[in-house]
Amino acid sequence: MDAPYEIRRIGDPVLRQRAKEVTDVDAKLVRLAGDMVETMYAAPGVGLAAPQVGVQKRLFVYDVGEGPHTIVNPEIRETDGEWAFEEGCLSIPGLAFELVRPKQVHLVGYDLEGNEVSIEADELLARALQHELDHLDGILYIERLDPDQRKAALKIIREQKLTAADLADAEVPAPAQKSTGFSLR
Ligand code: ZN
Repeated sequence: MDAPYEIRRIGDPVLRQRAKEVTDVDAKLVRLAGDMVETMYAAPGVGLAAPQVGVQKRLFVYDVGEGPHTIVNPEIRETDGEWAFEEGCLSIPGLAFELVRPKQVHLVGYDLEGNEVSIEADELLARALQHELDHLDGILYIERLDPDQRKAALKIIREQKLTAADLADAEVPAPAQKSTGFSLR
Protein backbone atom coordinates (compact mmCIF):
# COMPACT_ATOMS: atom_id res chain seq x y z
CA MET A 1 0.00 0.00 0.00
CA ASP A 2 1.74 3.15 -1.18
CA ALA A 3 1.24 6.33 0.82
CA PRO A 4 0.23 9.39 -1.27
CA TYR A 5 3.26 11.29 0.00
CA GLU A 6 6.80 10.58 1.02
CA ILE A 7 7.47 12.00 4.48
CA ARG A 8 10.25 14.59 4.50
CA ARG A 9 13.11 13.87 6.88
CA ILE A 10 15.32 15.99 9.06
CA GLY A 11 17.82 17.85 6.90
CA ASP A 12 15.11 18.85 4.41
CA PRO A 13 14.88 22.68 4.53
CA VAL A 14 11.07 22.56 4.24
CA LEU A 15 10.98 21.34 7.87
CA ARG A 16 12.74 24.50 9.10
CA GLN A 17 10.46 27.13 7.58
CA ARG A 18 7.38 28.78 9.01
CA ALA A 19 4.34 27.58 7.05
CA LYS A 20 1.88 30.11 5.63
CA GLU A 21 -1.65 30.75 6.86
CA VAL A 22 -4.35 28.95 4.88
CA THR A 23 -6.58 31.52 3.18
CA ASP A 24 -9.08 29.20 1.44
CA VAL A 25 -10.56 25.99 2.72
CA ASP A 26 -11.36 24.54 -0.71
CA ALA A 27 -11.57 21.15 -2.40
CA LYS A 28 -7.82 21.15 -2.99
CA LEU A 29 -7.15 21.57 0.73
CA VAL A 30 -9.66 18.81 1.58
CA ARG A 31 -7.84 16.48 -0.83
CA LEU A 32 -4.49 17.42 0.69
CA ALA A 33 -5.79 16.66 4.20
CA GLY A 34 -7.14 13.28 3.04
CA ASP A 35 -3.81 12.37 1.48
CA MET A 36 -2.02 13.47 4.65
CA VAL A 37 -4.27 11.22 6.78
CA GLU A 38 -3.49 8.25 4.49
CA THR A 39 0.23 9.04 4.67
CA MET A 40 0.03 9.28 8.48
CA TYR A 41 -1.73 5.90 8.77
CA ALA A 42 0.73 4.24 6.38
CA ALA A 43 3.73 5.49 8.43
CA PRO A 44 2.12 4.73 10.99
CA GLY A 45 1.89 7.81 13.18
CA VAL A 46 -0.57 9.77 15.33
CA GLY A 47 0.00 13.15 13.68
CA LEU A 48 1.36 14.72 10.51
CA ALA A 49 1.85 18.37 9.59
CA ALA A 50 1.74 19.74 6.02
CA PRO A 51 5.46 20.71 5.91
CA GLN A 52 6.27 17.03 6.53
CA VAL A 53 4.86 16.30 3.07
CA GLY A 54 6.55 19.38 1.58
CA VAL A 55 3.52 21.70 1.71
CA GLN A 56 4.08 25.10 3.36
CA LYS A 57 0.57 25.54 4.74
CA ARG A 58 -0.64 25.83 8.31
CA LEU A 59 -2.59 22.61 8.77
CA PHE A 60 -2.04 19.26 10.39
CA VAL A 61 -3.88 15.97 10.79
CA TYR A 62 -3.95 13.68 13.80
CA ASP A 63 -5.61 10.58 15.19
CA VAL A 64 -4.94 9.63 18.79
CA GLY A 65 -7.41 6.75 18.58
CA GLU A 66 -10.69 8.58 18.02
CA GLY A 67 -10.61 8.91 14.24
CA PRO A 68 -8.84 11.37 11.96
CA HIS A 69 -9.06 15.14 12.46
CA THR A 70 -7.69 18.09 10.52
CA ILE A 71 -6.94 21.49 12.05
CA VAL A 72 -6.35 24.50 9.81
CA ASN A 73 -4.53 27.63 11.06
CA PRO A 74 -4.18 26.28 14.60
CA GLU A 75 -3.22 28.48 17.53
CA ILE A 76 -2.56 27.58 21.14
CA ARG A 77 -4.40 30.01 23.40
CA GLU A 78 -3.45 28.62 26.79
CA THR A 79 -1.27 25.95 28.35
CA ASP A 80 -1.17 24.47 31.81
CA GLY A 81 0.90 22.03 33.84
CA GLU A 82 3.89 19.91 32.86
CA TRP A 83 4.03 16.40 31.46
CA ALA A 84 7.01 14.22 30.59
CA PHE A 85 6.46 11.97 27.58
CA GLU A 86 8.74 10.07 25.23
CA GLU A 87 8.33 11.91 21.96
CA GLY A 88 9.22 10.80 18.45
CA CYS A 89 8.71 12.24 14.98
CA LEU A 90 8.00 10.69 11.57
CA SER A 91 10.60 13.07 10.13
CA ILE A 92 13.25 11.72 12.53
CA PRO A 93 12.65 7.97 12.32
CA GLY A 94 14.03 5.57 14.87
CA LEU A 95 14.52 8.15 17.60
CA ALA A 96 12.55 9.00 20.75
CA PHE A 97 13.40 11.22 23.71
CA GLU A 98 11.56 12.09 26.86
CA LEU A 99 10.53 15.72 26.74
CA VAL A 100 8.61 17.87 29.22
CA ARG A 101 5.91 20.09 27.74
CA PRO A 102 2.67 21.59 29.06
CA LYS A 103 0.21 18.88 30.06
CA GLN A 104 -2.91 20.70 28.87
CA VAL A 105 -3.53 23.04 25.99
CA HIS A 106 -6.43 25.04 24.66
CA LEU A 107 -6.12 25.06 20.88
CA VAL A 108 -8.29 26.93 18.40
CA GLY A 109 -8.40 26.71 14.61
CA TYR A 110 -10.68 25.70 11.77
CA ASP A 111 -11.97 22.42 10.42
CA LEU A 112 -12.29 21.44 6.74
CA GLU A 113 -15.71 23.05 6.50
CA GLY A 114 -14.27 26.37 7.62
CA ASN A 115 -15.92 26.17 11.04
CA GLU A 116 -14.06 27.35 14.10
CA VAL A 117 -12.92 24.60 16.42
CA SER A 118 -11.84 24.87 20.03
CA ILE A 119 -10.13 21.92 21.70
CA GLU A 120 -9.31 21.45 25.37
CA ALA A 121 -6.67 18.73 25.26
CA ASP A 122 -4.78 16.79 27.90
CA GLU A 123 -1.75 14.44 27.90
CA LEU A 124 -1.33 12.50 24.61
CA LEU A 125 -3.68 14.68 22.56
CA ALA A 126 -2.19 17.87 24.02
CA ARG A 127 1.27 16.52 23.19
CA ALA A 128 0.32 15.67 19.60
CA LEU A 129 -1.21 19.13 19.05
CA GLN A 130 1.89 20.90 20.40
CA HIS A 131 4.25 18.73 18.36
CA GLU A 132 2.32 19.28 15.11
CA LEU A 133 1.93 23.02 15.69
CA ASP A 134 5.70 23.23 16.19
CA HIS A 135 6.14 21.75 12.69
CA LEU A 136 4.14 24.67 11.26
CA ASP A 137 6.66 27.02 12.88
CA GLY A 138 9.64 25.08 11.52
CA ILE A 139 10.51 23.58 14.91
CA LEU A 140 11.51 19.93 15.41
CA TYR A 141 11.10 18.44 18.88
CA ILE A 142 14.82 17.74 19.24
CA GLU A 143 15.35 21.51 19.40
CA ARG A 144 13.35 21.49 22.64
CA LEU A 145 15.57 18.89 24.31
CA ASP A 146 18.14 19.98 26.87
CA PRO A 147 21.66 20.52 25.41
CA ASP A 148 23.01 17.08 26.42
CA GLN A 149 20.02 15.21 25.02
CA ARG A 150 20.12 17.29 21.84
CA LYS A 151 23.80 16.48 21.37
CA ALA A 152 23.06 12.76 21.80
CA ALA A 153 20.14 12.97 19.35
CA LEU A 154 22.19 14.76 16.69
CA LYS A 155 24.99 12.20 17.07
CA ILE A 156 22.55 9.34 16.45
CA ILE A 157 21.02 11.16 13.46
CA ARG A 158 24.47 11.76 11.95
CA GLU A 159 25.39 8.10 12.40
CA GLN A 160 22.12 6.96 10.83
CA LYS A 161 22.72 9.22 7.81
CA LEU A 162 26.22 7.80 7.47
CA THR A 163 24.79 4.29 7.52
CA ALA A 164 22.15 5.17 4.92
CA ALA A 165 24.83 6.71 2.69
CA ASP A 166 27.04 3.63 3.09
CA LEU A 167 24.17 1.39 2.05
CA ALA A 168 23.42 3.55 -0.98
CA ASP A 169 27.08 3.46 -1.98
CA ALA A 170 27.14 -0.30 -1.67
CA GLU A 171 24.57 -0.59 -4.48
CA VAL A 172 26.74 1.38 -6.88
CA PRO A 173 29.67 -0.38 -8.58
CA ALA A 174 32.95 0.63 -6.98
CA PRO A 175 34.70 3.40 -8.93
CA ALA A 176 37.93 2.59 -10.69
CA GLN A 177 40.87 2.98 -8.40
CA LYS A 178 42.42 6.42 -8.52
CA SER A 179 45.95 6.82 -9.71
CA THR A 180 48.29 7.13 -6.77
CA GLY A 181 50.80 9.05 -8.86
CA PHE A 182 53.27 6.24 -9.33
CA SER A 183 53.25 2.92 -11.10
CA LEU A 184 53.20 -0.30 -9.12
CA ARG A 185 54.86 -2.15 -11.92
ZN1 ZN B 1 6.99 15.40 13.95
